[in-house]
Amino acid sequence: MGNFDEQLAEDPLFGAALDTLAIRAGQSRSHEGEHSEALFLTSSYVFANAKEAADRFSGEQPGNVYSRYTNPTVRMFEERIAALEGAESAVGTSSGMAAILSTCIALLKSGDHILCSRSVFGTTTVLFTKFLQKFGVTTTFVNPIDYAEWEAGFTATTKLVFVETPSNPLCDVIDIQRLADLTHARGALLAVDNCFCTPALQKPLELGADLIIHSATKYIDGQGRCLGGVVAGAKKYVDEVLGFIRSAGPSLSPFNAWIFLKGLETLRLRMEAHSRNALALAQWLNAHPKVEKVFYAGLPSHTGHELAAKQQSAFGGVLSFRVKGGRDEAWKVIDATRIMSLTANLGDTKTTIVHPATTTHGRLSPEQKADAGITENLIRVAVGLEDIGDLKADLARGLGNY
Ligand SMILES: *Cc1c(COP(=O)(O)O)cnc(C)c1O
Repeated sequence: MGNFDEQLAEDPLFGAALDTLAIRAGQSRSHEGEHSEALFLTSSYVFANAKEAADRFSGEQPGNVYSRYTNPTVRMFEERIAALEGAESAVGTSSGMAAILSTCIALLKSGDHILCSRSVFGTTTVLFTKFLQKFGVTTTFVNPIDYAEWEAGFTATTKLVFVETPSNPLCDVIDIQRLADLTHARGALLAVDNCFCTPALQKPLELGADLIIHSATKYIDGQGRCLGGVVAGAKKYVDEVLGFIRSAGPSLSPFNAWIFLKGLETLRLRMEAHSRNALALAQWLNAHPKVEKVFYAGLPSHTGHELAAKQQSAFGGVLSFRVKGGRDEAWKVIDATRIMSLTANLGDTKTTIVHPATTTHGRLSPEQKADAGITENLIRVAVGLEDIGDLKADLARGLGNY
């Protein structure tokens, strides 16, 4: 208790709940005393004298030098994310992919092995297989809900296990705690791409993960404006990632960090509203005669339902469904929509709809598509915050049309 009081005296947000942290964590005011977070659009910083410049460069004196590696607005965003994820530290990056790349370059070396869920963001697969491979880092992909496959996938050089849950587009739910135990027994690190849930719905570090990766482009922005990413975890790992960003430059723009700070303030409200709309749409699709199958962990019939109910505080905004028929029928449904945006992005107040087999997962071979369940009649919807009646009507038009 004494310890708690001491920390409380130092940090008024110590022990604060997620809603408070999302709105207030990390904010530092400039001497103007502004109420809203200040946007520091500056590439470099001036020093009072030559001695101060020398001390800032050497790191002896804390403070800003150059925005490739520190910026007060970016710092506020990093501290807010660290607070929300319950992480010791966090570092912003120019995109979600930059967060994944920076983590790998900073923490892996030639000869190391990555064990990865086969249901990760498509570009992550390309990064690992086409590019990291060139530098001697190999990757094995496994079915994320087959724990025997995970176990069999470890090699003596496995250093990083990489997973997304729920998966895209079929909403497989992966047991983070179980995977963390497997990973740690083999002396590796578990990185979770928490983009689909955000800390508002899921806290992977509390379940044993070592690193959190986000594409802030999605729900953290929440309105489809900016690219950005973040890596959160223990300071010793985050410092390594920051070291790479300082040397290589995939840094987060302060303007984008400012957008994300404002986005975070409504994160939980939005995530709950996305989840509510997605559940209602999934239930409606599930009862539709032209729909073959719906994939959404909020439906009790989904294989991941119980685990998601335990591991997440809501089921998230992304669902997919198979229409009766093939590609033609799926395309007809998509082309008949007038409200939903036909785009691959997600995590937006605007609902998006896409045909995975010919877009997001178009680069997979027919065998890989079959393995991953990406059939020609599959449609993915990232449910936004429009009126649910209008969204149902938008899909009903296409579904009633063949
Ligand atoms: C979009 C996305 C990424 C990549 O993020 P960018 O910001 O587009 O670089 C990584 N992981 C997941 C799960 C994503 O949805």
